[in-house]
Amino acid sequence: MSDAGQLQLLRQAAVAAREHAYAPYSHFRVGAALRATDGTIFPGCNVENSSYPAGICAERGAIAAAVAAGYRTFSHVVIVTDAEHPTPPCGICRQVLVEFSSQLEIISVTTAGAETIWSLSDLLPSPFTPQSLPHL
Ligand SMILES: [Zn+2]
Repeated sequence: MSDAGQLQLLRQAAVAAREHAYAPYSHFRVGAALRATDGTIFPGCNVENSSYPAGICAERGAIAAAVAAGYRTFSHVVIVTDAEHPTPPCGICRQVLVEFSSQLEIISVTTAGAETIWSLSDLLPSPFTPQSLPHL
């Protein structure tokens, strides 16, 4: 994605999704915007739960929305938090993301303007994928 305008749209979608984050326990609000390879954008936010393990991260919320809409290949995800440093996806989200797009580019930004870019293959160098299952 070389188009700066597309990146700006992704950032805006992630910022808007973060506004809807449900984080009454951690107060750590996260927004995500996942870009399908055709350019369609799927937002996500973290949704916590009083039964703490039932909560879901913003990235997985975005993946679930995209898959429900029929999308399975993605090029970028933007993550927004108000942390001091850009936040990488957690281990569970890395695993869920690699199921669909091992070459995903992850752009993490803070509300203060810091930015870090990773490739998913850098964050999860030896992934367990569908090809790891012996019957496939
Ligand atoms: Zn996560």
